[in-house]
Formats: sequence, structure tokens, C-alpha cells
Amino acid sequence: MSSIKRILVTGGAGFLGSHLCERLVAAGHDVICVDNFFTSQKSNVASLLTAPNFELVRHDIIHPLWLEVDEIYNLACPASPGHYQYNPIKTMKTSVMGAINLLGMARRCRAKVLQASTSEVYGDPEVHPQPESYRGSVNPIGPRACYDEGKRAAETLFMDYHRHNGVNVRIVRIFNTYGPRMHPFDGRVVSNFIRQALAGEPITIFGAGNQTRSFCYRDDLVEAMIRMMNGPDEFVGPVNIGNPGEFTIRQLADLILELTGSRSQVVEKPLPVDDPERRRPDIALARERLGWEPRVPLREGLAKTIDWFRSIRLEEFRAPTPNY
Ligand code: NAD
Ligand code: UDP
Repeated sequence: MSSIKRILVTGGAGFLGSHLCERLVAAGHDVICVDNFFTSQKSNVASLLTAPNFELVRHDIIHPLWLEVDEIYNLACPASPGHYQYNPIKTMKTSVMGAINLLGMARRCRAKVLQASTSEVYGDPEVHPQPESYRGSVNPIGPRACYDEGKRAAETLFMDYHRHNGVNVRIVRIFNTYGPRMHPFDGRVVSNFIRQALAGEPITIFGAGNQTRSFCYRDDLVEAMIRMMNGPDEFVGPVNIGNPGEFTIRQLADLILELTGSRSQVVEKPLPVDDPERRRPDIALARERLGWEPRVPLREGLAKTIDWFRSIRLEEFRAPTPNY
């Protein structure tokens, strides 16, 4: 059998999806990128458009699609709080109906399918750091629920299609990931702080800035996703993928100010409802089963991300929601 696979990447024009597509195209696979461009733009995959082994399809995964593929990476979903809360019902539909459509395709094609799940399935965690066995503390009726519960429901669907229909699935739980090609107006903390620092605008810390996050560089993340897809069929996950280095939001602001040389002031804004207080992945399982651990320290990854932000023209990016 040929080692060249037909691979579908949904959300393939997004921040992580576009890097994944690049890796897969460079490896010689036949890659189909499906995206509705809600939170991305074609420029993210522009360099791939001339590759004979790359195809771009504008499609919304809440509607069925009919393709013949060997593997599916399901990344389509708005990922930043501002984007996923913009149209929460659509976010839930994307997670749930999208999962059903892609799992149906995987069953018909006997394809492997990987779900990009999230640390948000742990909600505002009472267990720290978070292992995969922790079942989470999610507010099912709060403003983050459309995303958290949507991703939890998608995990349920993945496991049920696996157990009942024998679909070959993989689930990765992604912790905060950053890097070049993040949408500059997505409202996430890394993109906000870098954009603000470079423009000399106030750095907006929500709350007192003592809440923590663990930031993974996008190359480390994409490597782990590919290893998971190529790993043994019996290891379906879920597996945490993230960088266990834990930083307060205030530390992140200080580091970005230092690396940009910016003189921006730091201002405090109200903490959003249900904002998790602490987050750090336990990655023992990924280390053991995937032989994976992150390589890029925050300082190095931020320097590369800052370089990218310096190179872009903000007016070329559509602000997709008013929530940034
Ligand atoms: P992103 O917003 O850049 O990418 C998501 C892509 O999906 C975009 O190109 C968007 O246009 C597309 N999309 C959204 N809804 C769609 C729909 N209904 N049909 C087709 N396409 C649709 O975000 P990202 O950071 O690259 O995230 C990719 C995936 O990884 C998401 O599923 C996200 O939930 C997951 N994830 C990301 C992080 C992170 O920190 N980056 C953390 C946890 C989970
Ligand atoms: N945050 C902040 N200022 C900003 C954007 C975000 O202080 O301009 C905080 C936010 O309240 C949260 C953390 O940074 O505590 C990470 O936010 P992000 O939206 O990047 O991702 P989350 O992990 O909350 O999904």
C-alpha cells in the first residue's frame, strides 16, 4: 500500500489547521482543507494553493459533506472565547453536528478521525495539574458552555461511534497554544498582549492577572497531533497536549513587554464570567504513549510570534467579531 494518504483537515485554514496542512503537504500527502473562513482567511493557506497535492474547499461542517479520505483531522471550530461566544448556538452546532458529519464520513470511508478537543473540557478545574482522568468542572449554563459542552459532547460522540460502530478515532485535548498566524483580533491573551505591546496601547489584564495558563508553541502541538494520528489504533485517547510550564497572566504581560521593548501601560479590566483560575496539563500519558513532550520554551516561542506580528499588516485581517 502507498504511504501517501488522502487527508481531510477541517478548519484547515485556521491558525493550527494551516500549519498542519503545511506539514502534511510537505510530507507528500494528498490534503483537502475544508473551512468556512469564520475565524480565518485564505491568506493562511495561500502558499499551498499552487501545490498539486493540496485542495481548498469552502464548506461549513454543520452540513454533510461527501469525500473519500483515509484520515480526518477535525479542527473546525472557533477557538477563542470572543469568537466562540459571538454565535454560541452556531458554536455548539459546529462541535456536535460537525462531529456527527465527520464520524459518519469516517465510518463510510473506514477512515481514521482525530478530534481537536480542549482543556476546556476540565472547565475551572479543582484538580491541578489536570490529568485525563479528571472529569472536569464545567458550568453547563454559562457563557463558555457553548464551547466547553460542545467539545465534551463531541468527545462523547467520538467514543460512541468508536464503541458502537468501530470507527477508528483519536481524541487530543489541546491546552492554550500560540504562535505565528494566530488571528490578531481573536481576543486571546497572547495575540492581544503582543498586538497591544507593539502598538504602544495599554495591555489589558483581566482581573488581577493571578490566573494561570500553560502555553504551548504551535509546532510542538502539531507534531503531537500527527504522532497521535499515526500511533497505534488501540490508543484512542483522550490525551492531553500542552506545555506544562505554568505562568500567571501578569507574568505573561511582563515577558511580552520585555521581549517587545514596549512601554505600554498595564491596565486591569473585569475578569470574564467563569474564567478558569488555573490550568496546567499533566502530560505523563503523552510522554509515555507518544514519546512526545514540548521542546519550545515560552520565551523562544513568543519571540518568533512577536516577529510574525511585526511582519503583518493588521488592516489585511478582518475583525470577524466585535468581541475582540
Ligand atoms: P482558529 O479559529 O484559527 O481555527 C478554526 C478554524 O475552523 C478557522 O479556520 C475557522 O474558519 C474554521 N471553522 C469554524 N467553524 C467552522 C465550521 N462550522 N465549518 C468549517 N470551518 C469552520 O483556531 P485554532 O486555534 O487553530 O483551533 C483549531 C482547533 O483546535 C479548534 O477546534 C479548537 O477548538 C482547538 N483548540 C485550540 C486551542 C488553542 O489554544 N489554539 C486550544 C484548545 C483547542
Ligand atoms: N486575558 C487577559 N487579557 C486579555 C485576554 C485574555 O487577561 O486581553 C486572560 C483571560 O481572562 C484568561 C487568560 O488571559 O484568564 C487566557 O485567555 P484566552 O482568551 O487566551 O484563553 P482561555 O484559556 O481563557 O480560553
